[in-house]
Amino acid sequence: MTDGLPPELRRESDTAPGGLSVEDLSFSYGARQALDGVSFACRPGRFTALLGPNGAGKSTLFALLTRLFTTPHGRIRIAGADLARSPRKALANMGIVFQQPTLDLDLTVRRNLSYFAALHGIPGRAAAARIDASLERLGMAERAGERVRDLNGGHRRRTELARALVHSPSVLLCDEPTVGLDAASRQAIVDHVHELAAGGLTVLWATHLTDEVRAEDDLLVLHRGRLLRDGTAAEISAGSTVSETFLDLTRAPA
Ligand code: ADP
Repeated sequence: MTDGLPPELRRESDTAPGGLSVEDLSFSYGARQALDGVSFACRPGRFTALLGPNGAGKSTLFALLTRLFTTPHGRIRIAGADLARSPRKALANMGIVFQQPTLDLDLTVRRNLSYFAALHGIPGRAAAARIDASLERLGMAERAGERVRDLNGGHRRRTELARALVHSPSVLLCDEPTVGLDAASRQAIVDHVHELAAGGLTVLWATHLTDEVRAEDDLLVLHRGRLLRDGTAAEISAGSTVSETFLDLTRAPA
Protein backbone atom coordinates (compact mmCIF):
# COMPACT_ATOMS: atom_id res chain seq x y z
CA MET A 1 0.00 0.00 0.00
CA THR A 2 0.97 3.66 0.01
CA ASP A 3 1.09 4.27 3.76
CA GLY A 4 4.89 4.47 3.96
CA LEU A 5 5.06 7.31 1.44
CA PRO A 6 5.22 10.98 2.36
CA PRO A 7 1.77 12.61 2.11
CA GLU A 8 2.52 14.48 -1.11
CA LEU A 9 3.15 11.16 -2.91
CA ARG A 10 0.30 9.15 -1.47
CA ARG A 11 -2.61 7.71 -3.43
CA GLU A 12 -2.31 10.29 -6.20
CA SER A 13 -3.90 7.82 -8.60
CA ASP A 14 -6.49 6.49 -6.16
CA THR A 15 -8.98 9.21 -7.03
CA ALA A 16 -10.84 8.07 -10.12
CA PRO A 17 -11.68 10.98 -12.45
CA GLY A 18 -14.85 12.45 -10.99
CA GLY A 19 -14.32 10.71 -7.64
CA LEU A 20 -13.56 11.89 -4.14
CA SER A 21 -10.68 10.87 -1.91
CA VAL A 22 -9.74 11.68 1.65
CA GLU A 23 -6.28 10.87 2.97
CA ASP A 24 -5.20 10.77 6.57
CA LEU A 25 -7.61 13.52 7.60
CA SER A 26 -7.59 14.71 11.21
CA PHE A 27 -9.38 17.56 12.95
CA SER A 28 -9.66 18.71 16.57
CA TYR A 29 -11.91 21.15 18.39
CA GLY A 30 -9.35 22.28 20.98
CA ALA A 31 -8.48 19.15 22.94
CA ARG A 32 -11.33 17.10 21.44
CA GLN A 33 -10.25 15.10 18.44
CA ALA A 34 -13.24 14.80 16.11
CA LEU A 35 -11.47 13.03 13.22
CA ASP A 36 -8.41 10.87 13.57
CA GLY A 37 -6.48 9.84 10.45
CA VAL A 38 -9.49 9.14 8.22
CA SER A 39 -8.78 7.86 4.68
CA PHE A 40 -11.21 6.59 2.03
CA ALA A 41 -12.15 6.98 -1.62
CA CYS A 42 -15.59 7.30 -3.23
CA ARG A 43 -15.95 6.14 -6.81
CA PRO A 44 -18.08 7.48 -9.67
CA GLY A 45 -21.26 5.52 -10.21
CA ARG A 46 -21.34 4.40 -6.58
CA PHE A 47 -23.56 5.30 -3.66
CA THR A 48 -21.21 5.50 -0.68
CA ALA A 49 -22.96 5.57 2.68
CA LEU A 50 -21.13 7.14 5.59
CA LEU A 51 -22.70 5.59 8.65
CA GLY A 52 -21.91 6.83 12.11
CA PRO A 53 -23.79 7.42 15.38
CA ASN A 54 -24.16 10.91 16.82
CA GLY A 55 -20.75 12.34 17.63
CA ALA A 56 -18.94 10.05 15.15
CA GLY A 57 -17.52 13.00 13.21
CA LYS A 58 -19.80 13.05 10.15
CA SER A 59 -20.61 16.78 10.32
CA THR A 60 -16.98 17.63 10.95
CA LEU A 61 -15.98 15.60 7.90
CA PHE A 62 -18.60 17.39 5.78
CA ALA A 63 -17.45 20.77 7.07
CA LEU A 64 -13.94 19.89 5.89
CA LEU A 65 -15.16 18.52 2.55
CA THR A 66 -17.09 21.73 1.86
CA ARG A 67 -14.26 23.94 3.14
CA LEU A 68 -16.34 25.39 5.94
CA PHE A 69 -13.38 24.25 8.08
CA THR A 70 -9.80 23.64 6.99
CA THR A 71 -7.08 21.51 8.52
CA PRO A 72 -3.38 21.10 7.82
CA HIS A 73 -3.74 17.41 8.70
CA GLY A 74 -4.59 15.37 5.63
CA ARG A 75 -5.70 15.85 2.08
CA ILE A 76 -9.00 15.98 0.17
CA ARG A 77 -9.25 15.55 -3.59
CA ILE A 78 -12.44 16.18 -5.55
CA ALA A 79 -12.57 15.09 -9.19
CA GLY A 80 -8.78 15.19 -9.27
CA ALA A 81 -8.45 18.67 -7.71
CA ASP A 82 -6.77 19.18 -4.35
CA LEU A 83 -9.26 21.07 -2.14
CA ALA A 84 -6.58 23.03 -0.27
CA ARG A 85 -4.54 23.98 -3.33
CA SER A 86 -7.30 24.43 -5.93
CA PRO A 87 -10.46 25.10 -3.91
CA ARG A 88 -12.43 26.73 -6.73
CA LYS A 89 -11.77 23.88 -9.12
CA ALA A 90 -12.54 21.29 -6.47
CA LEU A 91 -15.75 22.95 -5.25
CA ALA A 92 -17.00 23.55 -8.81
CA ASN A 93 -17.25 19.78 -9.10
CA MET A 94 -19.22 19.34 -5.91
CA GLY A 95 -22.95 19.48 -5.20
CA ILE A 96 -24.08 19.66 -1.60
CA VAL A 97 -27.31 19.02 0.27
CA PHE A 98 -27.02 20.06 3.89
CA GLN A 99 -28.97 18.73 6.84
CA GLN A 100 -30.74 22.05 7.32
CA PRO A 101 -32.89 23.22 4.40
CA THR A 102 -31.53 26.33 2.67
CA LEU A 103 -34.24 27.11 0.10
CA ASP A 104 -35.96 30.48 -0.10
CA LEU A 105 -39.52 29.55 0.87
CA ASP A 106 -41.08 32.54 -0.87
CA LEU A 107 -39.54 31.85 -4.27
CA THR A 108 -40.74 29.26 -6.72
CA VAL A 109 -38.82 26.04 -7.27
CA ARG A 110 -37.48 27.41 -10.57
CA ARG A 111 -36.41 30.75 -9.07
CA ASN A 112 -34.50 28.97 -6.31
CA LEU A 113 -32.59 27.04 -8.95
CA SER A 114 -32.03 29.98 -11.30
CA TYR A 115 -30.70 32.07 -8.42
CA PHE A 116 -28.22 29.30 -7.64
CA ALA A 117 -27.26 29.01 -11.34
CA ALA A 118 -26.60 32.75 -11.47
CA LEU A 119 -24.36 32.47 -8.40
CA HIS A 120 -22.39 29.85 -10.29
CA GLY A 121 -22.06 32.16 -13.30
CA ILE A 122 -24.15 29.95 -15.60
CA PRO A 123 -25.63 32.16 -18.36
CA GLY A 124 -29.42 32.41 -18.67
CA ARG A 125 -30.17 30.14 -21.61
CA ALA A 126 -27.78 27.39 -20.45
CA ALA A 127 -29.18 27.77 -16.95
CA ALA A 128 -32.77 27.25 -18.14
CA ALA A 129 -31.83 24.03 -19.92
CA ARG A 130 -29.87 22.72 -16.95
CA ILE A 131 -32.65 23.61 -14.53
CA ASP A 132 -35.20 21.77 -16.68
CA ALA A 133 -32.94 18.71 -16.87
CA SER A 134 -32.21 18.79 -13.17
CA LEU A 135 -35.89 19.09 -12.16
CA GLU A 136 -36.75 16.32 -14.62
CA ARG A 137 -34.19 14.00 -13.01
CA LEU A 138 -35.77 14.49 -9.60
CA GLY A 139 -39.36 14.17 -10.85
CA MET A 140 -40.02 17.83 -10.01
CA ALA A 141 -40.58 19.31 -13.49
CA GLU A 142 -44.33 19.82 -13.04
CA ARG A 143 -43.77 21.70 -9.78
CA ALA A 144 -41.28 24.23 -11.20
CA GLY A 145 -43.75 27.13 -10.85
CA GLU A 146 -44.86 26.34 -7.28
CA ARG A 147 -43.68 28.30 -4.27
CA VAL A 148 -41.39 26.22 -2.07
CA ARG A 149 -43.52 27.16 0.95
CA ASP A 150 -46.41 25.24 -0.62
CA LEU A 151 -44.41 22.01 -1.12
CA ASN A 152 -44.31 19.10 1.30
CA GLY A 153 -41.04 18.16 3.00
CA GLY A 154 -40.15 15.45 0.49
CA HIS A 155 -40.60 17.75 -2.50
CA ARG A 156 -38.55 20.46 -0.79
CA ARG A 157 -35.70 17.99 -0.36
CA ARG A 158 -35.98 16.95 -3.99
CA THR A 159 -35.80 20.62 -4.96
CA GLU A 160 -32.59 20.92 -2.95
CA LEU A 161 -31.16 17.88 -4.70
CA ALA A 162 -32.11 19.30 -8.10
CA ARG A 163 -30.45 22.60 -7.14
CA ALA A 164 -27.29 20.79 -6.03
CA LEU A 165 -27.01 19.31 -9.55
CA VAL A 166 -27.62 22.46 -11.63
CA HIS A 167 -23.90 23.14 -12.16
CA SER A 168 -23.36 19.49 -13.25
CA PRO A 169 -21.04 18.41 -10.44
CA SER A 170 -19.47 14.96 -10.56
CA VAL A 171 -19.58 14.56 -6.76
CA LEU A 172 -22.74 14.88 -4.63
CA LEU A 173 -22.46 15.22 -0.86
CA CYS A 174 -25.58 14.63 1.23
CA ASP A 175 -25.42 15.31 4.95
CA GLU A 176 -28.31 13.39 6.54
CA PRO A 177 -30.73 14.83 3.98
CA THR A 178 -33.72 12.77 5.12
CA VAL A 179 -33.89 14.25 8.61
CA GLY A 180 -37.48 15.18 9.43
CA LEU A 181 -39.09 13.41 6.47
CA ASP A 182 -41.87 10.85 6.71
CA ALA A 183 -41.06 7.25 5.75
CA ALA A 184 -42.44 7.45 2.20
CA SER A 185 -40.62 10.71 1.37
CA ARG A 186 -37.43 9.34 2.89
CA GLN A 187 -37.65 6.22 0.75
CA ALA A 188 -38.29 8.29 -2.38
CA ILE A 189 -35.24 10.50 -1.77
CA VAL A 190 -33.02 7.50 -1.05
CA ASP A 191 -34.26 5.84 -4.28
CA HIS A 192 -33.65 9.01 -6.31
CA VAL A 193 -30.11 9.40 -5.08
CA HIS A 194 -29.35 5.73 -5.79
CA GLU A 195 -30.57 6.38 -9.34
CA LEU A 196 -28.30 9.42 -9.62
CA ALA A 197 -25.35 7.29 -8.52
CA ALA A 198 -26.30 4.58 -11.03
CA GLY A 199 -26.18 7.32 -13.68
CA GLY A 200 -22.48 7.96 -12.97
CA LEU A 201 -22.47 10.44 -10.10
CA THR A 202 -20.13 9.98 -7.12
CA VAL A 203 -22.37 10.08 -4.02
CA LEU A 204 -21.32 10.39 -0.40
CA TRP A 205 -24.39 10.05 1.83
CA ALA A 206 -23.99 10.60 5.57
CA THR A 207 -26.62 9.01 7.79
CA HIS A 208 -27.18 7.26 11.09
CA LEU A 209 -30.11 5.31 9.63
CA THR A 210 -29.07 1.83 8.53
CA ASP A 211 -32.20 1.23 6.44
CA GLU A 212 -30.95 3.83 3.93
CA VAL A 213 -28.03 1.55 3.02
CA ARG A 214 -28.41 -1.20 0.38
CA ALA A 215 -26.33 -4.37 0.26
CA GLU A 216 -24.57 -3.30 -2.95
CA ASP A 217 -23.65 0.17 -1.64
CA ASP A 218 -20.16 1.11 -0.58
CA LEU A 219 -20.15 1.62 3.17
CA LEU A 220 -17.91 3.59 5.52
CA VAL A 221 -18.48 3.12 9.24
CA LEU A 222 -17.25 6.05 11.31
CA HIS A 223 -17.14 5.94 15.10
CA ARG A 224 -15.52 8.41 17.49
CA GLY A 225 -13.56 10.01 14.68
CA ARG A 226 -12.12 6.78 13.31
CA LEU A 227 -13.05 4.79 10.23
CA LEU A 228 -13.89 1.29 11.46
CA ARG A 229 -14.95 -0.30 8.15
CA ASP A 230 -14.61 0.43 4.41
CA GLY A 231 -16.13 -1.98 1.88
CA THR A 232 -19.48 -2.88 0.37
CA ALA A 233 -22.36 -3.11 2.82
CA ALA A 234 -22.73 -6.81 1.94
CA GLU A 235 -19.07 -7.52 2.73
CA ILE A 236 -19.11 -5.56 5.96
CA SER A 237 -22.31 -7.10 7.26
CA ALA A 238 -21.54 -10.62 5.97
CA GLY A 239 -23.93 -13.08 7.58
CA SER A 240 -25.78 -10.34 9.43
CA THR A 241 -27.77 -7.17 8.69
CA VAL A 242 -26.26 -3.71 8.27
CA SER A 243 -28.22 -2.66 11.31
CA GLU A 244 -26.89 -5.43 13.60
CA THR A 245 -23.34 -4.98 12.30
CA PHE A 246 -23.49 -1.24 12.87
CA LEU A 247 -24.82 -1.67 16.40
CA ASP A 248 -22.15 -4.25 17.22
CA LEU A 249 -19.37 -2.04 15.86
CA THR A 250 -20.46 1.14 17.55
CA ARG A 251 -21.45 -0.38 20.88
CA ALA A 252 -17.90 -1.61 21.39
CA PRO A 253 -15.28 0.85 22.61
CA ALA A 254 -13.54 2.46 19.60
P1 ADP B 1 -21.72 13.74 13.99
O1 ADP B 1 -22.04 14.68 12.88
O2 ADP B 1 -21.34 12.37 13.50
O3 ADP B 1 -22.80 13.68 15.02
P2 ADP B 1 -19.77 15.73 14.83
O4 ADP B 1 -18.82 15.94 13.70
O5 ADP B 1 -20.86 16.74 15.02
O6 ADP B 1 -20.39 14.26 14.73
O7 ADP B 1 -18.97 15.64 16.19
C1 ADP B 1 -17.76 14.91 16.33
C2 ADP B 1 -17.17 15.19 17.71
O8 ADP B 1 -16.75 16.54 17.78
C3 ADP B 1 -18.15 14.97 18.85
O9 ADP B 1 -17.42 14.47 19.95
C4 ADP B 1 -18.65 16.37 19.14
O10 ADP B 1 -19.03 16.49 20.50
C5 ADP B 1 -17.42 17.22 18.83
N1 ADP B 1 -17.77 18.55 18.34
C6 ADP B 1 -18.53 18.84 17.26
N2 ADP B 1 -18.63 20.18 17.10
C7 ADP B 1 -17.91 20.75 18.10
C8 ADP B 1 -17.62 22.09 18.47
N3 ADP B 1 -18.07 23.12 17.77
N4 ADP B 1 -16.84 22.28 19.58
C9 ADP B 1 -16.35 21.23 20.28
N5 ADP B 1 -16.59 19.93 19.98
C10 ADP B 1 -17.36 19.69 18.90
